Amino acid sequence: MTSIKSKLPQTTPLQPVIGIFGGTFDPIHIGHVHCALQVLQQCPLEQVRLMPCHLPPHRVTPGVSAQQRAEMVQLAIAEHPQLILETLELEQHRPSYSAISLQQLQQRYPKHKLAFIMGMDAFNQFTSWHRWQDILHCADLIVCQRPEHSQLSSDSKALLTQHQMFDVQQLQQQQTGRILLLDNPLQDMSATSLRQQLAHSQTPPKGLDTAVWNYIQQHQLYKGSHPAAAIKK
Ligand code: ATP
Repeated sequence: MTSIKSKLPQTTPLQPVIGIFGGTFDPIHIGHVHCALQVLQQCPLEQVRLMPCHLPPHRVTPGVSAQQRAEMVQLAIAEHPQLILETLELEQHRPSYSAISLQQLQQRYPKHKLAFIMGMDAFNQFTSWHRWQDILHCADLIVCQRPEHSQLSSDSKALLTQHQMFDVQQLQQQQTGRILLLDNPLQDMSATSLRQQLAHSQTPPKGLDTAVWNYIQQHQLYKGSHPAAAIKK
C-alpha cells in the first residue's frame, strides 16, 4: 500500500545563490556595477562575484594585465559589500573558459547554487562559447539588457524559448539551466568606448569610477600607443 507520506508533494530545500559575473573588465565601468547591483536588487542572490578573465578566448588579449584589471574591479566595488572580486581565473594560466571556471566554482562553493550573469550582447554569442551546454549544467543564466543589443539572435531566441525562467524565486531551486531575462534600466556604456576616450583625452570619461580613474592615471594605462587601446576584434 502506498503511504500517505509518499503522496505528498516533494519539497526541495531552497539553496543560497551566488551570482558570477564574468568579464574582461578592461576597464570596469558603471555599466558593469549597475548591472550587478540590479541583479542583487531584483533576484534572491546572496552576493555577486565579479570574475575578471585572465586570457579571454573570444577577443584580443588585453594590454592591461589581469592583475591590474582585478585591482580596478576591487576599487570600483569597494563600497558595495555584496559585490566581491572572484580571482579564480586569475589564479590559472589557461584560456578563461566559463564552462571550466563554473565547474571549478561549483567545487569551491558546494553549498551554493550558481547564477551566471551576462549582458545581452554576450548572450547573443552564447551558443558559440566553448562547451556552453556545460554552463547550463552548472548554473542558471541571468541576462541583463544592454543598449543597442535588444534584438535576440535566432539561436538565443530558440534557447530562451526552451529555458526561460519567469519567476526569480526559481533561482534558489536546485535545477540549473534556466534563463532569466532581467528588466534592468539601460546603461549606455562600453569598455571599448572608454579605452578610445582614455587613449585620446586627459579628462575622466563619463562612466568611470573616480578611484578607477585615479588608478589609470597613476599607472599610465590606456595611453595612445598602448596595446590596451586596441579595439575589440
Ligand atoms: P568591451 O567593450 O571591451 O567588449 P564591455 O563593456 O562589453 O567591454 P566586458 O568586460 O566585455 O565589458 O563585459 C562583461 C560583461 O558585462 C558582459 O556580459 C557584457 O555583456 C556585460 N556588460 C558590459 N557593459 C554592459 C552594460 N552597459 N550593460 C549591461 N551589461 C553590460
